[in-house]
Amino acid sequence: MLPKYKRILLKLSGEALVGDVKNGDPFDPKIIEQYAQDIKLVTNLGVQVAIVIGGGNIYRGMNEAESGIERAHGDYMGMLATVINAMAMQAMLEKIGVYTRLQSAINMEQVAEPYIRRKALRHLEKGRVVIFGAGTGNPYFTTDTAGSLRAIEMKADVILKGTRVDGIYNADPEKEPNAKRFETISFQECINQNLKVMDMTAFTLCMENQLPIIVFDMNKPGNLLKVVEGMNVGTLVQ
Ligand code: UDP
Repeated sequence: MLPKYKRILLKLSGEALVGDVKNGDPFDPKIIEQYAQDIKLVTNLGVQVAIVIGGGNIYRGMNEAESGIERAHGDYMGMLATVINAMAMQAMLEKIGVYTRLQSAINMEQVAEPYIRRKALRHLEKGRVVIFGAGTGNPYFTTDTAGSLRAIEMKADVILKGTRVDGIYNADPEKEPNAKRFETISFQECINQNLKVMDMTAFTLCMENQLPIIVFDMNKPGNLLKVVEGMNVGTLVQ
């Protein structure tokens, strides 16, 4: 089957990497391997893949009152956490034979290239998976915003938000057994119904730049391929 999308930006949550691990490790190698295998399947179709990973499994800088650490300082710590996840993802992808490049928005040349937009575009054209670490490089942002920003910069066809839920519902499916999943929904409807797809900064960037978002369950093996093939998986916001 021909893929529906030629270039994607995959936003992975840091928190989802924890999986079933209960010993305090930040990630479950089984989850990272499953993600890597799913990414390989879509690169085999010739789809160009860029990735932004969160850092919530290691550190989240948001809560100054609890941590006693100034917000901006904590945010930089959070950005460094995303680089650790990005390196883990990179290692797993390379292990299964997928070529990758890691670019970081905070310079650390021993482990990652600096973020250079035109260079990232060339990597994608050459079929390398490009992982963007350190979010936007700025405090007061999230990795969802980094994902939207990089997707627009890379002229990706779509941003795929891989989560542990299979889309956007009209109510919380864990509380409301009759909650209904949307197959597609407009940006405006999300605002009208106060549906939390991404934080407002990230969401607005997508809306203003007509970048469609697909929210889907990344923890189900094979789902990413289905999304890329245009099958009815998750929720499409456009
Ligand atoms: N962060 C930031 N600027 C960015 C991206 C991330 O300051 O552009 C910080 C912020 O503190 C955030 C943390 O990095 O809480 C980890 O990212 P996020 O919470 O988005 O990860 P996820 O929820 O996807 O695991």
